[in-house]
Amino acid sequence: MSKAATTKTARKPTTAEGACVCGAVRFEIDVPAVWAWHDHGATTRHAHGAAYATYVGTWRSRLRVTEGEDNLSRYENAETRTARSFCTTCGTPVFYERPRAPKMVNIPRALFASRTGREPRYHLNLTESADWEYRGEPLGPLKGFPGVQWERPKRKKPREPGGML
Ligand SMILES: [Zn+2]
Repeated sequence: MSKAATTKTARKPTTAEGACVCGAVRFEIDVPAVWAWHDHGATTRHAHGAAYATYVGTWRSRLRVTEGEDNLSRYENAETRTARSFCTTCGTPVFYERPRAPKMVNIPRALFASRTGREPRYHLNLTESADWEYRGEPLGPLKGFPGVQWERPKRKKPREPGGML
């Protein structure tokens, strides 16, 4: 931690910066963000190629693309009336816009290296979540594979005593 950050006069950061994987697209938002949430919906799962995505929502007016705006490609889904922008070089999902909140832009939380002023405490679209999504089941080390944790298969119920007859 820098000396300035430990003094009483240090100010909290007023912006949080983010970037795509290759760094061609860079942006910043004013903090704190409006909210942060986990989206377990099917289209987000598909778009991210992941079990779910965690977003930080910001007012459009508090978002600035500082580099690489021309490097963003935008996909508009006519059915859901949502728009997803991604980096044309590395494919990182960058912005997600929904008709429900037209003045808001959602940004994957993972694109920010620093805090955004909001913890992701909300879970949306849980009814659409994948049955293979990790839900905190107990894990144990996998013998012979250091660093790998796994969920032991559930034991089958023993047969009814009369079932053998
Ligand atoms: Zn990129």
